[in-house]
Amino acid sequence: MISDSDPDCLFCKIVAGDLPAERLYEDDELLAFKDISPQAPFHGLIIPKTHLATLNELTPDHAELAGRMILTAQALAAEHGLRGYRIVVNTDHEGGQVVFHVHMHVLGGRQMQGGLG
Ligand code: 5GP
Ligand code: ZN
Repeated sequence: MISDSDPDCLFCKIVAGDLPAERLYEDDELLAFKDISPQAPFHGLIIPKTHLATLNELTPDHAELAGRMILTAQALAAEHGLRGYRIVVNTDHEGGQVVFHVHMHVLGGRQMQGGLG
């Protein structure tokens, strides 16, 4: 896959190694690292290495990439002994997205509450 990168994007800088992050997993397409402001005992972020601003930029060509993000969440949860976990992809401003490079939150290590506020 051709990796597009946005020089002004925080997560592209992490992919490039220009900003530090605690890396959890990496392959040709994906990178996972710890969230800088964890909302649970385990809080990882899984991102495509290519710059896609929001989930709305995905096309059917990204179906395998999207599926692999979910499988990576499953693998991280197993590796970190999570008995349950939550995955979240905030999408666009009204969806609560702050960093405009697609990322999947993986939260676990505590009882998650029912509200999705
Ligand atoms: P969003 O609200 O866009 O879904 O979440 C962005 C997430 O990125 C937040 O949970 C925030 O703590 C995390 N974050 C923001 N800046 C950095 C950073 O420089 N490094 C890391 N590891 N996480 C970051
Ligand atoms: Zn980016």
